[in-house]
Amino acid sequence: MNKKMYSMAICSAIAGLLLVMTGCDKSESKYKMAEGKIFGTTYSIRYEAEEDLHEQILQCLQEFDNSLSMFNENSIISRINRNEDVETDAYFETMFEEAQHISELSQGAFDITVAPLVNLWGFGFQNKGEVTQEKIDSLLPITNFLGVTLSDHHIYKRDERIMLDASALAKGYACDIVANKLAEAGCKNYLVDIGGEIVAQGVNQEGEKWKIGITKPIDDPTGSVQELEDIVRSGDIKMATSGNYRNYYYKDGQRRSHTIDPRTGYPVHHNLLSATVVAKSCMRADALATTCMVMGEKEALAFIDSIEDAECYLIVADNKELKVLTSEGWVQLFE
Ligand code: ADP
Ligand code: MG
Repeated sequence: MNKKMYSMAICSAIAGLLLVMTGCDKSESKYKMAEGKIFGTTYSIRYEAEEDLHEQILQCLQEFDNSLSMFNENSIISRINRNEDVETDAYFETMFEEAQHISELSQGAFDITVAPLVNLWGFGFQNKGEVTQEKIDSLLPITNFLGVTLSDHHIYKRDERIMLDASALAKGYACDIVANKLAEAGCKNYLVDIGGEIVAQGVNQEGEKWKIGITKPIDDPTGSVQELEDIVRSGDIKMATSGNYRNYYYKDGQRRSHTIDPRTGYPVHHNLLSATVVAKSCMRADALATTCMVMGEKEALAFIDSIEDAECYLIVADNKELKVLTSEGWVQLFE
């Protein structure tokens, strides 16, 4: 398996959240299921509707892929990374504005210009070979969200070596887009899960709030172990999880995780194993979950408490035990 396939296989295995399906279909139920693979991960969408909306959902995911997929050579983001003259679309622009906003709030802990470093460490769309301090030092000056601006549907870079990576918020954003599509089609009850990021609305086919599991962060590069740490119930939630227990590898006895600290150029190394965030959009929850993973538990808790409409559930390694830490308003979300 080459590096890209390996990385895609790993991506597809990522599911920070496990959807807990309850009950079985009743024959008169109008609940439908759309499942498949998209941008190197899986999606599973359950919704109540008279008609089958899978085609519409697929079309919407394809448009999204054409804009933001790092693994689609013709996508807008890929063309921007090759410095081609390309007009941005609404998907790209919404992603970009949100990414820049989270970069400002986090003072650069979150930064989509981390792409060359992600590639260097072997988690991106290109493999740059051996990691050396010299190479890291050469990439740090071009890792800075302030070096890239959007104006009049065009991206301007301070240095043409700058590249963008939307992976940290794309799955969450795709959930928002599919959820909007379902709402537009008149659906009131649905649960959208793309690679473990979740938008839930209304009730399941048994008339109860959706049940959502938070996966125990057990080292598992295959993504097949799905023991639950916790289960929450909600009728209106946008939730994303980021973790370092599935997308990692060992080199020279050292563990390398896919969360990169843009300020040091190195994969993060701390006790925070996974961060689940609830926010007002799933794209924001996704970006904030990655930010928490960059920060580590202490900084992450203070950061999330400082942000309006965001709560987090952190799982931390504590002397071979797992410890849960939550932000101030987490519990109230599920009362
Ligand atoms: P997951 O893919 O497990 O849901 P994330 O949402 O945290 O995880 O996305 C991780 C991806 O985000 C990495 O594989 C990399 O492409 C990118 N990334 C890594 N570090 C950062 C960072 N500091 N800021 C923004 N994106 C990052
Ligand atoms: Mg994320």
